[in-house]
Amino acid sequence: MAVSPFDGITLALSKGRIFEDTVPLLRAAGIVPLADPESSRQLILPTNRPDVRLVIVRASDVPTYVQYGAADMGVAGKDVLLEHGGEGLYQPLDLCIARCRLMVAVPQGFDYARAIQRGARLRVATKYASTARDHFAQKGVHVDLIKLYGSMELAPLTGLADVIVDLVSSGNTLKANQLEAVEEIAAISARLVLNVAAWKLNRSRMAPILEAFSKGVAASG
Ligand code: ATP
Ligand code: MG
Repeated sequence: MAVSPFDGITLALSKGRIFEDTVPLLRAAGIVPLADPESSRQLILPTNRPDVRLVIVRASDVPTYVQYGAADMGVAGKDVLLEHGGEGLYQPLDLCIARCRLMVAVPQGFDYARAIQRGARLRVATKYASTARDHFAQKGVHVDLIKLYGSMELAPLTGLADVIVDLVSSGNTLKANQLEAVEEIAAISARLVLNVAAWKLNRSRMAPILEAFSKGVAASG
């Protein structure tokens, strides 16, 4: 079966906070989605501009769509980009949205400093296995990584792991589960990402969007 041709710019976004926070930047670029991904089942959303469409994918799939050129550009959290590795992508713009921190969190009262000094292995549960592995390797801490896909907070409470690596914004979810953040791995915000080849071939159409996003970010202070 042939893929229907689309001769415009395809932008990959995830539902939820990334979509909501990107809509004002799109508007600044003169782009208005013609459907709402929360209520529509459509995964390809047309916009007011016939030469621009949106594709709605899982947050962690955005870099993959852009890397392989299925989308020309996308919006992805730095957490997702760190874990992906960034191959085939340009990351020209920090959109300063979806801000939070990637952190190590432990049960309240857990002696983290001692745990990482002992030379014993630390059991770490996380969705960010590659980033966590790099972080603890840099510190010279031996870890057993346990890959999870959500609700990381449950892991230390059930004895699955000693600590977790997860995103933290207010800290309320940690607190509600008797956990506390003890170490920052990275400050996180969403980035505009571009497919390297698309940027070379289609720069004249992509540059104005990048430019408008850039002005929109500056204007939102
Ligand atoms: P999925 O629901 O598909 O598993 P997800 O839970 O990662 O994906 P979101 O919760 O929408 O999807 O998160 C998308 C991005 O928003 C994350 O990759 C991260 O960069 C950022 N983010 C996640 N949680 C927060 C938060 N509490 N505050 C601010 N930004 C966040
Ligand atoms: Mg989430």
